[in-house]
Amino acid sequence: MNISSAIFESSAPDLESCPDESLPEFAFIGRSNVGKSSLLNMLSGQRKLARVSPTPGFTKLINFFIMNNRWRLVDLPGYGFAQVARKDSARFNEAVTHYLQHRPNLCCVLALIDSSLPPQKIDLEFVEWMARNTVPFVLVFTKIDTSTPAKAAKNIKAFNDRISVWFEIPPETFSTSATTRHGRQELLDLIGKSLKVTGQEIPEESSSPTGEDLPDSVETPAPAREVKNRKPKSKRPNPARPW
Ligand code: GDP
Repeated sequence: MNISSAIFESSAPDLESCPDESLPEFAFIGRSNVGKSSLLNMLSGQRKLARVSPTPGFTKLINFFIMNNRWRLVDLPGYGFAQVARKDSARFNEAVTHYLQHRPNLCCVLALIDSSLPPQKIDLEFVEWMARNTVPFVLVFTKIDTSTPAKAAKNIKAFNDRISVWFEIPPETFSTSATTRHGRQELLDLIGKSLKVTGQEIPEESSSPTGEDLPDSVETPAPAREVKNRKPKSKRPNPARPW
């Protein structure tokens, strides 16, 4: 699969404000500075995808992008020390918690982890929380170009070792670099495979097969309103869960 169109749809401060449930969603989340914006821009082929909305507080909102007119890329607010609250239920931002627990059309969370760092407590806690809440997810180790292969491999192994107690089958793991575009095709293939499972048509591979930048204002063949009128799915699609 490749990306032929990427359109900002809306920002939501809570689950109730999210757009309809008609399209399969792939949500990206990670600690601030993990490289999420860079990865989203690299994946989509748009330099400014992750910063396209002028809405104040954009980075604290759930941001929805319609990709190829067929699925949504969901940019979840980054978690960090400021968002660690006393109550466990509010630890990662209430809107995110509700979205991850209750969004029926969420196919997969791509949990971003910085490959240049040893396992971080907050990332481990987040993965444990997803395990307890049976959220479908994969791990995406970012910035793979910033360390030697041996150091990155050591950090990735250490992280996977720490989380292994929570899973019978370890989560699927990817490594990426926004600088070299390493891992781009693998992530797009993951999304393509999940779309097949949900019965979504794979669109024509019409443009940007090498992941070159799309123009900043890319047109879609159909307006977003038409997408919103599609019949909502009644329950969460059932992609292979990584555990
Ligand atoms: P965000 O806060 O998670 O959205 O992180 P950003 O995408 O803004 O990235 C944070 C910093 O890391 C920026 O200075 C980026 O240029 C840098 N960065 C992000 N991804 C990569 C990568 O894959 N390789 C390298 N070398 N730097 C990266």
